[in-house]
Amino acid sequence: GLQVERLRERVHAVPDFPSPGILFRDITPLLADAGAFGLCIDALAAPWQGAGVEAVCGIESRGFIFGAALAQRLGVGFVPLRKPGKLPPPLVEVEYQLEYGHDRLQAREGALVDGARTLIVDDVLATGGTLTAAHELVTRLGARTVGAGVVIELDALGGRARWPEDIPLHALLHY
Ligand code: IMP
Repeated sequence: GLQVERLRERVHAVPDFPSPGILFRDITPLLADAGAFGLCIDALAAPWQGAGVEAVCGIESRGFIFGAALAQRLGVGFVPLRKPGKLPPPLVEVEYQLEYGHDRLQAREGALVDGARTLIVDDVLATGGTLTAAHELVTRLGARTVGAGVVIELDALGGRARWPEDIPLHALLHY
């Protein structure tokens, strides 16, 4: 509807960033518009009101921005899932494949209560490698992923196909 269109106007398309042939979706104009940012958090929260979410995990780094605001909106704590070298031990981690090479996501051991109903948040779903790794990390932490929310889903990259079919994944905007 109208609200989604207002968000879409605040996402800018930047050709050839960070490398030639890539069309980068820049969400910084959305963050800078208080009304649009507020609508965005409302829309991310809507599917989860009353769903018994107990924790929100955000993926470094733009997932922190949306995830922290969403955690506050839902009245639950926020847990950052970080790139290597940022968090002190003891850590739990997962390694995942990138187009070239691999990367890791880490969290503090014990960061989530056993069995906690956890929502994972990121800005963009592209190939799905990052979000799926985050789900694996939540599982390794002993919690339970009840869903995921992203601001943007890049449909052509097929990330949703890598995400477990039985766990709800909500995207506000599709490109
Ligand atoms: P994936 O693992 O291929 O799904 O890539 C998702 C990760 O890359 C997310 O953490 C995003 O922040 C980042 N990403 C991929 N494409 C874009 C983009 O167009 N804009 C902003 N971030 C992106």
